[in-house]
Amino acid sequence: MGHIIARYGEISLKGHNRSEFEKVLVQNMRRAVEPWPGVRVSRSQGRIVIDTGDVPTSPVLTALSRVFGLVSLSPVRVAGLSADAIGDEAVALVREAADNGEMPNRTFKVEVRRANKQFPLKSPELTRQLGGRILKSVPGVRVDVHNPDLTVNVEVRDIEAFVYGRTIPGLGGLPVGASGRVGLLLSGGIDSPVAGWMAMKRGAEVEAIHFHSYPFTSERALQKVESLAQVLADWGGRLRLHVVHFTEVQTEIRKHCPEPLTVTIMRRMMMRIATQIARQRGLLALVTGESLGQVASQTLESMHVIEAVTQLPILRPLIAEDKVDIIRRARQIGTYDISILPYEDCCTVFVPKNPRTRPRLEEAERAEEHLDVENLTARAVERTEMKTFHARRGVEPAAAGTP
Ligand code: ATP
Ligand code: MG
Repeated sequence: MGHIIARYGEISLKGHNRSEFEKVLVQNMRRAVEPWPGVRVSRSQGRIVIDTGDVPTSPVLTALSRVFGLVSLSPVRVAGLSADAIGDEAVALVREAADNGEMPNRTFKVEVRRANKQFPLKSPELTRQLGGRILKSVPGVRVDVHNPDLTVNVEVRDIEAFVYGRTIPGLGGLPVGASGRVGLLLSGGIDSPVAGWMAMKRGAEVEAIHFHSYPFTSERALQKVESLAQVLADWGGRLRLHVVHFTEVQTEIRKHCPEPLTVTIMRRMMMRIATQIARQRGLLALVTGESLGQVASQTLESMHVIEAVTQLPILRPLIAEDKVDIIRRARQIGTYDISILPYEDCCTVFVPKNPRTRPRLEEAERAEEHLDVENLTARAVERTEMKTFHARRGVEPAAAGTP
């Protein structure tokens, strides 16, 4: 019955990258429409065409509007390749829009794209004919080429024509999985879920790594992180969460390291453990929610000392973002309300009175002299638990608008 066309961008991608992009995109779209077995997704002439069968178009559109890599989507009417058949659909489209109150000034224009050069009428001719038929068939409408209420778009293709009015924006970006897999250091805060979302937007498949310090932090703090992981899975299709039991590491740091450096050393331990997990899981980079200068541990000196323990690229999608902008994005993604729940995070449990904001590398290395770094790291990795989250069906995008 209904059809949708989906457009994708990144025209700069070439050759192998492009076909990989398209393959992954179609796969992800198929996964998004899995709740409706009758819905078919196929590729044709530079577009992706979705045949919704008997399923109403609107929930399918909503589900697809959450797929990264799509630039825009339009519900379309499919017509046979004759001016008459196209005209029937164009008239029906205008009638429907007028009935739904989408044409307050009752103005329209017709725009034809003729991809099929065999079609007997040239674009201007077809445009004129269709305009004439609409004027005759729908009472009270008139043409306004500059500022119409409704643009009747017609795409004449090889085996059929598409007629549509509405285009809704997609998320853009790249399809999740097209850029490889990364590890996201996911806290219960506002920033790291947003950072993970942005990595997904550029095509990374994300596995989350969370450091948990039970009983210093509660069971509920962990549930909060699981809720965040679930929301990210709703966007990305699937998400694995690695929960690292971090209590022993934190206790040992407190016992053996100078207090002003405990935060720095805790972060270095997180990086070491995350790096081992990344090696086991084939993750190509680590993502954090850091933003330059936001807190004491996010100075350039601090970041240098922390990332010195890993060879992996550290991606910081929020490095240049202001907190207000991160919060706005978190709201749109749907993580904000979860992130502001009060349960304490492992980093807030042992906060030194005077943390060093500009540590030096040798200083941090010296501070670790009495810490059994290797064994602590290995034990934490060994005890790490993994949980998998799948996208929930029928979840509405968190808020109106594109994040
Ligand atoms: P967030 O809002 O993401 O917690 P933040 O501004 O509170 O960030 P920090 O607490 O300094 O900043 O954390 C910096 C980054 O370190 C986080 O964005 C996250 O990527 C990582 N991180 C912090 N705590 C944890 C944790 N318990 N488990 C996993 N990663 C963490
Ligand atoms: Mg935090």
